[in-house]
Amino acid sequence: MSYIVALTGGIGSGKSTVANAFATRGAAIVDADVIAREVVQPGEPALEALAQRFGKQIIHSDGSLNRPLLREKIFNNSEDKQWVNNLLHPLIHARTQQIFREASAPYILWVVPLLVENGLQSKANRVLVVDVTPEIQLSRTTKRDNVSLQQAQQIISAQVSRPQRLAYADDIIDNNSTPDTIEPRVKALHNCYLKLAASVPR
Ligand code: ADP
Repeated sequence: MSYIVALTGGIGSGKSTVANAFATRGAAIVDADVIAREVVQPGEPALEALAQRFGKQIIHSDGSLNRPLLREKIFNNSEDKQWVNNLLHPLIHARTQQIFREASAPYILWVVPLLVENGLQSKANRVLVVDVTPEIQLSRTTKRDNVSLQQAQQIISAQVSRPQRLAYADDIIDNNSTPDTIEPRVKALHNCYLKLAASVPR
C-alpha cells in the first residue's frame, strides 16, 4: 500500500493547479472526482440502480448519466440524497482502495475536494490543504466557471469553512499569491513526502 497524501481545498482554491505541479514532479495522482464518475459509467450496476429509483430519464440517450438532472432531483430531497450517497460511497471507497493497493508509486497524491465534508481524512496518511481567502476563492471561481458571485458564494457556503478544513491540515499551501509561488513549495513537499513514504513499511 502506497503512502497516501490527501490534497484538499475549497472550490477555486487551486487544487488542480497544485496537483498539476506535483504531477510534473512525477507524483502519482488519484482523482476522487474521476473515480466518482467511473462508478456510474454505462454498464455499471450503480447506473441501473439510479435509473430504477429516479426513472429512465436519468440516463442520456448515449447511455451516460444525466448529472444535472440527478443533482436537481436530490437537491431538495435529503432522503434521496442519502440514498444516492449510500449507493455510491461504498463503490467509490472500494475502487479507491483497490487503486491504492495496486499502486507501485512511493506515494499517491489523492485529490479529494470534499475530504472533510465526507469525513475521509482518516483514509490518508497526511492531509495537504490548499488555502486561499474567501475573497480570492470567489474571484477565481467566478472568473474560471463564468458563474455569478451569488452562485459561487452558494457553493462555498455548502462546503466546510476555511478554519474547519485547516484544522485537519498537516501541510498547507498558501495560494493567495501569484502562481510562481506554488512550484518551490510543491518541490519541498514532494521531497518531504518521498522521505515520509520511505520511512513507513509498505
Ligand atoms: P480548484 O481545482 O481548487 O477548483 P483551480 O486549480 O482550478 O482550483 O484554480 C482555480 C482558478 O484559479 C483556475 O482558473 C486557476 O488557473 C486559477 N489559479 C490557481 N492558482 C492561482 C494563482 N496563484 N494565481 C492566480 N490564479 C490562480
